[in-house]
Amino acid sequence: MEANIEFRKQVMEHHIEPDLIKYCYQCSECSDNCPITAVTSDFNSTKGYNPRSNIITALLGHKDLLLNGDELGIWGCTVCVTCDEVCPQKIELTEVFAFLKNQSIALGKGPASIYNQAKAVYESGKAIPPQPAIERRRGQLGLPPVVTPDVNEVQTLLKNIGSAKKLK
Ligand code: SF4
Ligand code: SF4
Repeated sequence: MEANIEFRKQVMEHHIEPDLIKYCYQCSECSDNCPITAVTSDFNSTKGYNPRSNIITALLGHKDLLLNGDELGIWGCTVCVTCDEVCPQKIELTEVFAFLKNQSIALGKGPASIYNQAKAVYESGKAIPPQPAIERRRGQLGLPPVVTPDVNEVQTLLKNIGSAKKLK
């Protein structure tokens, strides 16, 4: 597979210290401590979420391998920031992953689940739309009803930052 040099350059530029990311020596501290890798991978399989391999793939400029709409690929990261804290080379992996996710959406190559989640926020103002069962359970637990957000305000915000267009 051919490296995309322009993409590699963009990845490096989006790291807080562009040169630092080159010093990833694939030690696996990030993957060994990533909670998503822990629940999605096993030792007998190359499947699952892996921040170490995402970093090397980005550094090699393999854009198509990363931005392919895979549900887990670059999207498994929940931005818990553990990898940033344990990397011996002080690489801020989450900055690189934020760039990759933004690129994926800009190119219309995000996974369906992400668009569906964003659509739910656009339509209901909530990541998890209101459900009678949830409200009933809250009532049983003595919790107050969830305040209904101002959906128009949310939609205006999303339109102003250009997200509404990307949802289409
Ligand atoms: S912990 Fe840092 S140096 Fe080690 S593989 Fe991950 S990004 Fe590379
Ligand atoms: S920030 Fe993402 S990649 Fe890093 S440890 Fe957390 S879930 Fe894993």
